[in-house]
Amino acid sequence: MLLREVEYARPGSVEEAIRLLAGHEGARALAGGQTLVNVMKARAASPDVLVDLNRLEELRAISVSGDTLELGAMATYAQIMGSSEVQVARPILCVVVAQIADVQVRNRGTIGGNACSSDPTNHLPPLLVALDASFTIRGSNGERTVAASDFFLGVYMTAVAEGELLVSISIPASANAADGFDAVTIGREGTCIVSAAACLSNGGARIALGCVDAVPVLVEVEGIEPDAVRAAVAAAGLDPPSDVHGSGDYRRHLAEVCALRAVQHANERGAK
Ligand SMILES: Cc1cc2nc3c(=O)[nH]c(=O)nc-3n(C[C@H](O)[C@H](O)[C@H](O)COP(=O)(O)OP(=O)(O)OC[C@H]3O[C@@H](n4cnc5c(N)ncnc54)[C@H](O)[C@@H]3O)c2cc1C
Repeated sequence: MLLREVEYARPGSVEEAIRLLAGHEGARALAGGQTLVNVMKARAASPDVLVDLNRLEELRAISVSGDTLELGAMATYAQIMGSSEVQVARPILCVVVAQIADVQVRNRGTIGGNACSSDPTNHLPPLLVALDASFTIRGSNGERTVAASDFFLGVYMTAVAEGELLVSISIPASANAADGFDAVTIGREGTCIVSAAACLSNGGARIALGCVDAVPVLVEVEGIEPDAVRAAVAAAGLDPPSDVHGSGDYRRHLAEVCALRAVQHANERGAK
């Protein structure tokens, strides 16, 4: 037997899902299962109840309202890649989700699950921070909105408390946004060793670095000249971890390289 015995519930509404999550200690939301089922197999997590969100179509909606792109937490990477709304409103999202793993992971994995995992090697946390996304979280006491800079709290820890559900992620819509992303990965379409997302505006850049700390590190630069970007990354005083994929020094070096490339990609996209 691969998994420890676990209760399974398949709610038909968001309210029912929240009731189930709030009513059982040790209950966990199940989205695409691409992280959760693997950590359960490895016995690194052992929830008592799985609350499967896959019947909740309202959590899969993608829409643009005014100047905001809203993505339901259960929107899959494949759905985002194929969404004309996302392609028009913030195309960098399509570019980045297309780089995640393989077809199976892209068909099952969700934007909400990627964010809620808060895995430093995931592609989306730095991108969502650079894009200045906001997260709508619902619990039995109502709904609240959390800025991306306050959402990621640590490895596998976010602002979503026990008994709560991430319902959607809002991103400023901007068809001509100058956004870029770069990552050094373990093999093609592999896990990130270091990543950087950049959004340019008013002559400067908002850069979020991934895999150099427990949560994305936000660096804001006035100007986009390479020397300004290098100086801003150096001033962030990064102290990345060392592991089998790279030493802390190597990651610090890659952070500068990825930041420069992300800004360059953003500048090229903005000029189109
Ligand atoms: C082989 C492989 C390679 C991968 N490579 C990459 C990669 O290169 N880059 C990358 O970014 N990711 C990668 N991943 C991870 C993948 O993107 C996962 O899909 C993602 O991390 C989790 O999304 P999920 O929808 O599968 O969530 P799940 O695994 O179902 O859930 C993950 C966690 O989030 C919680 N959760 C999910 N949705 C909600 C919600 N709405 N509200 C509250 N809590 C919620 C769950 O309870 C769980 O704790 C890889 C996965 C695999 C299997």
